[in-house]
Amino acid sequence: MQEMNADKNYDVIIVGAGPAGLSFACSLVDLNLKVMVVERSTLSSISSPKPDGKETALTHNSLKILRKLGVWDLIDETKVSLLREAKVFDGDSDSLLNFTAKKSSIDALGYLVPNHLIRLALYEKASHSDNLSIISDLSVESVETSYSGGKVTLSDGQILNSKLIVAADSRFSEIRRKMGIESTMKDFSKVMIITRVSHEKDHNQIALECFNYGHTLALLPLNGNISSVVLTVPTDEADQMLNMDQEKFCKFASEGFNGSLGEMKQIGERFSYPLVGVYAKKFRSTRFALIGDAAVGMHPVTAHGFNLGLRGQDILSKSISKALNAGKDIGSVEVLREFENKQIHLSRLMYFGTNGVVSLFTNDDEKAKQIRKLVLKFADRFPPIKSLITKHLTESKKSNLIPF
Ligand SMILES: Cc1cc2nc3c(=O)[nH]c(=O)nc-3n(C[C@H](O)[C@H](O)[C@H](O)COP(=O)(O)OP(=O)(O)OC[C@H]3O[C@@H](n4cnc5c(N)ncnc54)[C@H](O)[C@@H]3O)c2cc1C
Repeated sequence: MQEMNADKNYDVIIVGAGPAGLSFACSLVDLNLKVMVVERSTLSSISSPKPDGKETALTHNSLKILRKLGVWDLIDETKVSLLREAKVFDGDSDSLLNFTAKKSSIDALGYLVPNHLIRLALYEKASHSDNLSIISDLSVESVETSYSGGKVTLSDGQILNSKLIVAADSRFSEIRRKMGIESTMKDFSKVMIITRVSHEKDHNQIALECFNYGHTLALLPLNGNISSVVLTVPTDEADQMLNMDQEKFCKFASEGFNGSLGEMKQIGERFSYPLVGVYAKKFRSTRFALIGDAAVGMHPVTAHGFNLGLRGQDILSKSISKALNAGKDIGSVEVLREFENKQIHLSRLMYFGTNGVVSLFTNDDEKAKQIRKLVLKFADRFPPIKSLITKHLTESKKSNLIPF
């Protein structure tokens, strides 16, 4: 629904119609609230998102949330690939860490879904919901909140009022800054290059992560003999890899996996993402909350970003629902404090834990190489650690962890 209501008072205004903003909007659908989502990009970019190279790895908990929202059923199931096993290799050493879903009662560690199909399903659900309006091609320029309410000013000068404002406006969130919320930012000076390839041999639904010296190479198994190759290189080498001719690029990738998949052929565009991590020091202010990457923008190596975003918005919508049932104010400190307390600790752990893994496994110092060999050997030979991680990978109620 693109028409803006004449009445400019809402219960909730969401800034950003990315995956986090739209999933939160979908979570509010059954609460009988008047919700407005403001998105600065074009209508077609959110209603018919194009492939962006990302194959989003979803945890069981994320699946549960998407099912609850009625979004999962809108995703073409033939495009969902099961991730049954994951192997982590370290440089030229023989250290290896292996996670598998085989011994547990469930069928997969996680599920790989093309990101644009998740965005499409979220938009379909949100745009067909009563009480929910989406406006595109306009950005939120300023935001103000007080104990009695909040208001945003759009790029065309319109002013919208609400009880609660939720920013889901990306890791580079301007709204977060305008609300005076500090964040820590880590520029990894690396670029992730992604493309789809077909290959001769079966991947057996096993994901591979090779922390080679100088670069990192990952393989995400898709349906058929097709995979997503994810190469992470220092920024100054990115152009060379992006412009490399297909044959050479595929040879490089195939050799990076020791030829285990045979010859590779590029079958998709090459996409690139500069890697910057962001962590907001708090997730709330007066009548204001941060969700998605605006709260915590993860390094993608552990595939937590959207999973954490989904979890956060789910917590916030539950707190709002609780307040509504008790006849309380949905933008109160109580609601926002509950959301923050439940989301911030796990997010902090994931964010700094992931950054720790990244700095250890992408540091080619002799000392770091020795430490990572020890870490992998210890983790692989100490079953409780592996089973704990696999449990995290597969269980729906605990945290959401996929190694990459
Ligand atoms: C290469 C890569 C691979 C990834 N793989 C995984 C994975 O496997 N699993 C996983 O869980 N996560 C993964 N992620 C992370 C995941 O993609 C992000 O966490 C997720 O896309 C963030 O969604 P978001 O809605 O918070 O932000 P965004 O997608 O950045 O959306 C923000 C939206 O806000 C809009 N906006 C910004 N400012 C304004 C404004 N002032 N007014 C109005 N609108 C505004 C923008 O136009 C945009 O549409 C990956 C990320 C990358 C880069």
